[in-house]
Amino acid sequence: MTYKLKLTNSLTRKKELFKPLNSNKITMYSCGPTVYDNPHVGNARTLVVFDTLYRLLKMIYGKVIYVRNITDVDDKIIEISKKNKKNIQEITETVTKIFHKDCASLNCEMPTIEPKATDHIEGMVAMTKSLIEKNFAYENKGHVFFSITKFKNYGKLSNKNLDELKSGARIEVSELKKNPMDFVLWKPSSENDPGWNSPWGRGRPGWHLECSVMSEKYLGKNFDIHGGGLDLIFPHHENEIAQSCCNNSLDYFANYWIHNGFVTINKEKMSKSVGNIITISNAVKKYSGQVVRLALLSAHYSQPLDWNDELLENQKATIDKWYSLYEETESKNILDDSESLLDDLNTPGFIAKIHELFNKASKGDQKSKILFNNACRLLGLFNINKNQWENFKKLNTNISKKFILKMIDERFKAKKNKNFDLADKIREELLNKGIVIEDLKDKTVWKFK
Ligand code: AMP
Ligand code: ZN
Repeated sequence: MTYKLKLTNSLTRKKELFKPLNSNKITMYSCGPTVYDNPHVGNARTLVVFDTLYRLLKMIYGKVIYVRNITDVDDKIIEISKKNKKNIQEITETVTKIFHKDCASLNCEMPTIEPKATDHIEGMVAMTKSLIEKNFAYENKGHVFFSITKFKNYGKLSNKNLDELKSGARIEVSELKKNPMDFVLWKPSSENDPGWNSPWGRGRPGWHLECSVMSEKYLGKNFDIHGGGLDLIFPHHENEIAQSCCNNSLDYFANYWIHNGFVTINKEKMSKSVGNIITISNAVKKYSGQVVRLALLSAHYSQPLDWNDELLENQKATIDKWYSLYEETESKNILDDSESLLDDLNTPGFIAKIHELFNKASKGDQKSKILFNNACRLLGLFNINKNQWENFKKLNTNISKKFILKMIDERFKAKKNKNFDLADKIREELLNKGIVIEDLKDKTVWKFK
């Protein structure tokens, strides 16, 4: 039996039946992080939504090629490097490591391919050259711009005409552009900024280019699904479409565009510029990866999701309750019981179904218990066993930050009094509780083991 998956396509703004180009190999691209600062819970939503879609697609079709890029060349990275006087590579590598750790703590599977922008500069230069040759782009003083009026469908994804786009967006004004809406494909780099040689001098690519180049390289000129957060529709995705369609003389780039809504705090978008972010690692430390994951899936992906303690406490109670029926089960295709997920990845509907299965299972229905466990796993839950969950809870409730700081203070006093035995004992006691301490030059810091 074939399963019918429906998805809301941002291109048409309609819920559509998903028809893959090749049902033996689904192709999906999702825009990954710009690695300049610790990822936050808003970024986590994109990760978890597309990870859940990836799991569902694999269950339906078997083989899925999922590409998620790493943006490691960007003006924000350059800015931070100057501000903190840190080497760019050091920043991008450190943040990438944190990002991978965050993905693992949220139980997001690694994508099939995770290309880095800086490994694909050659492809970006080639695409820019080709767009100039085909008369879709022009050079001016070391800059190359894409001429948006050359693409008849510009604005189709964001459903706006050029005037609306112009007034609604922050456009980089430059007298070098023929049209203020034209966007950068390539720009010059000063001596101290990262740069690569190109026919237009030493420079670096504009942000949009990398996704066009990398998606084509790994998925082809036309592929199934392209995703990201709502804020990427314009200009990022609109520009990706313009570049790729013009360069390949195609009307289509990705067939289905999926966008997740924002995580908000007090109804305001969580973002670094607003300064209201909660990092993934802090949220996970406080509530566990599974609780954060379930919270992120508790609203439909297309809707906003307000982040607050009440939401998290509710999800924690749910996960805790569900662990009472945790069981190691053989993984099993449960699509017959996943109507809600097949209907536009309706995770709140699926969570309601899991509650139903839980209720039946708790009355002793063994079939429901197996289904319940498999349903949790399809959502990416139950990645740690019951013992590990109980341990996490113990650690989480038994040990408060205040207690840790008090112990660190006592150890400091012991060391000052040359009572090193006591100091070691305190270190060990904390370690037994899962807390690692480290002495820096002028202070002692701690982290979870
Ligand atoms: P960035 O690292 O800022 O390029 O963002 C990486 C991904 O996270 C993109 O797909 C963004 O659309 C998404 N994103 C950023 N902030 C939020 C938010 N508050 N809620 C949901 N998604 C977000
Ligand atoms: Zn992108």
